[in-house]
Amino acid sequence: MNNVEKLLLEFKKKIKNLDTIHDLETIQIIYLGRKGLINHLLQSITNLKSEEKKDFGLKVNKLKTSINQLIGVKRQQLIKKPDTASYFDITLPGKQYPKGSLHLISNAIEKISDIFKKIGFIRMTYPEVEWEYFSFDSLNMPKGHPARDDFETLFIDAAESKKYGKMILSPHTSSCQVREMMRVGKPPIRMINIAKCYRPNWDVTHTPMFHQFESLCVDKNINITNLKGTIDYFVKEYFGEEFEARLRPFHFQFTEPSFEIDITCAVCLGKGEISGQQCKVCKSGWLELAGAGMVHPNVLKAGKIDPSKYTGWAFAFGIERLIIIQTKMDNIRILYDGDIRFLKEF
Ligand SMILES: [Zn+2]
Repeated sequence: MNNVEKLLLEFKKKIKNLDTIHDLETIQIIYLGRKGLINHLLQSITNLKSEEKKDFGLKVNKLKTSINQLIGVKRQQLIKKPDTASYFDITLPGKQYPKGSLHLISNAIEKISDIFKKIGFIRMTYPEVEWEYFSFDSLNMPKGHPARDDFETLFIDAAESKKYGKMILSPHTSSCQVREMMRVGKPPIRMINIAKCYRPNWDVTHTPMFHQFESLCVDKNINITNLKGTIDYFVKEYFGEEFEARLRPFHFQFTEPSFEIDITCAVCLGKGEISGQQCKVCKSGWLELAGAGMVHPNVLKAGKIDPSKYTGWAFAFGIERLIIIQTKMDNIRILYDGDIRFLKEF
């Protein structure tokens, strides 16, 4: 048997059991490709005697035609019978992908933003790496104030500014107050800011990174009633109609007068006791939730707003605090453990 006949026999054997188009194409390249077996055979013609060349050339060309035909037939068979690798049954049920959900904190942020949007407040963002000036000086907190100590605030190792002091990680969202006044220029201001805050604390009720949301309203004739009304609206929208809020006199440097905001305890529903026993969570029926007050005239002045014409209120809530009250969680750190079993509970 000569080389040509041998090659054809081998080829027939090889394509007989093929069952994918991909395999057929591979074989096609091996035989008919530029560096394939047929071309190799044709090149060997130079080694033949001149009287043998014509006959050999004809045989190889015939072989090439046969292989081309056989490939064409096999291709048609494979197209009619779908190969297993590319066969797709559209009637089979789809793959079930695991469903994710938003983190509790993200959910709370969305909800708060929606509640305030309804009453015309815009949501702004401000730097988290902040100057001391916006976090303290502009908020009426003088140089020696204990909050400015490095036990309470995280300082950035960077050059100090003559105008704004040292760089810090924003310890509260209130740094936005004077920034917003400077941005707007002339009241009215109705703004919320929801952001990460940083303090060097780590225990069951504190994490070094946490979230606050701040609300600021400055306009003509703004008074405590407006503040109380907004807080009542928020508490009922966020927690439910059965929840009440109260203002309790307190002291902050950047508001005057200042209050702490308490809300109805979710565990005893404001009764302070459960079947004759004092409620362990609140002891009084109320839970402390946030700080609030009328914007201090010095803060308005720092924001270039005339305190004889305009007044305003501000309050700040901890987002983690809202979640603790809602879920009765006893360890805040679990929020940031990244344990998916916990997140699946909600
Ligand atoms: Zn209670």
